[in-house]
Amino acid sequence: MSLEQLLKTKTAFTSFKSGQKEIIEDVLANKDVIALLPTGGGKSLCYQLPAYLLEGVVLIVSPLLSLMEDQVQQLKASGEKSVIALNSFLSFSEKERLLSLDLQSFKFIFISPEMLQVEKWVRKLQTLQIALFVVDEAHCVSQWGHDFRTDYLKLGRVKESLGAPTSLALTATATMTVIQDIQSFLDMTSPALHINSVDRPNIAINVEHLTNNKEKKERVLELVKTLRGPGIVYFSSRSKAEEVCHHLQENGVTRVAYYHAGLSQELRILIQQQYLMGQLDIICCTSAFGMGINKSNVRFVIHYHQPTQMESYVQEIGRAGRGGDKSIAILLKSMEDTMLPEFIIENELPDSEWVSYIVHELVAAYREISDIFSIPIKEWVEKAPEMESHWRYLSYQVDQFIQVTGKLSNATINPCIEAIQTHIKERTSAKRRKLDEFNQWTSDRKCRREGVLRYFNEELLTAPVPCCDVCGLSMEGFEVKGEGMYEEEEATLSWQLLLKNIFWQEVEK
Ligand code: ADP
Ligand code: MG
Repeated sequence: MSLEQLLKTKTAFTSFKSGQKEIIEDVLANKDVIALLPTGGGKSLCYQLPAYLLEGVVLIVSPLLSLMEDQVQQLKASGEKSVIALNSFLSFSEKERLLSLDLQSFKFIFISPEMLQVEKWVRKLQTLQIALFVVDEAHCVSQWGHDFRTDYLKLGRVKESLGAPTSLALTATATMTVIQDIQSFLDMTSPALHINSVDRPNIAINVEHLTNNKEKKERVLELVKTLRGPGIVYFSSRSKAEEVCHHLQENGVTRVAYYHAGLSQELRILIQQQYLMGQLDIICCTSAFGMGINKSNVRFVIHYHQPTQMESYVQEIGRAGRGGDKSIAILLKSMEDTMLPEFIIENELPDSEWVSYIVHELVAAYREISDIFSIPIKEWVEKAPEMESHWRYLSYQVDQFIQVTGKLSNATINPCIEAIQTHIKERTSAKRRKLDEFNQWTSDRKCRREGVLRYFNEELLTAPVPCCDVCGLSMEGFEVKGEGMYEEEEATLSWQLLLKNIFWQEVEK
């Protein structure tokens, strides 16, 4: 059977989207693949279709819980029954039950990077025949791996322990540096690279310069009331997301909710599902919302706060227009916000005093450490839970130090502290450079799209119409007047999902 025939039998699609077939062919030829397809470019199909031809399980490492839930639901809704998700969302008894089952009968196993660090799960997976090892949203391997998701850095080792199956890394946004990181973190020797354009011609880009936050808040209200939705408004601060959400509600926008990592996992998934189902039109959120989520009719993305780098910006605006409709991305800039991205970068990693304090404390408590992961990190995290990502980072860095020097003790305290501080300085200045580039892009009076593509080493061959504010853009094409603003949701939802939602609504009351 040809791939086209398989596509028609297994899915509702009649042809491949650009780039998909080549990726699938390489996967089927047992090559390791790093694939870049734009947001909405159909990356999931690149592991779904091979699953029907390969012998064994397709294991998908997925970075976020909400993303995993969404993908599992979509597969189930499309009729695929042999799919499970292994993540911290499972209860203890569910986990025990799954551990005793023969997982070989599942075609798709989704797993979080954290679960892949748990020995009994790795041992369980080792009993399976794994046909394909997929890392979705693989840019996270680089973006987060360096800093705090040290689980990502160990993915290569885990892959080896599973018999080094063919691997496929998928992302929509990766510069050459990020591609190299993915390759090295996933231990790929000479992967086939499939680099497709990051450009999304159906998303117009608009940067608006405003004077202050008050103006921004009013502008968001005005935009939300006039633009064709559904839409997403991004914030860097949780409290601002809540504040603007309330402001919208007080001014007649009812189907709006806020979403950030401070909400319970259940509430987050509920809001995500309500948005996917069309019960909500607008989400005021932090970057915690939306990665990989497949909602095809989002028509605008507003940035109330800018992200700290181009990769995140392209990921976030890419949530608009996935169904191909003309959509718009609006970035609101004001002088008041210049400090915020700087502050975010500064605080992503621990400061010098904290590093020094912790290393001293560790040595005082244990005298000699030759294996950082053997000490009860959990107890340390509990001392300052809000610093969890810093803890993860520090323990990984101490581990790196021990790998080189053998142990951490009184005699090596200073070199260890210095090594970590140097690493922090390097990471922070690399992030500052990215921020500078992004800021430059917002203030340049050059075609925005060309700027985005240049960042990813691409050239703009033909500019779409409309393109961006610099090339000339009228908001009218994106507006709706009067009632009935939003189209009914087209998503097909399984009855399981509907039940789940009803259940969660009950719980949250
Ligand atoms: P990505 O992960 O690249 O952002 P998805 O895999 O979520 O994108 O797919 C985006 C949308 O494109 C989904 O609605 C999916 O059903 C659809 N899609 C995928 N492949 C095809 C195809 N060959 N033809 C038409 N639609 C497709
Ligand atoms: Mg995806």
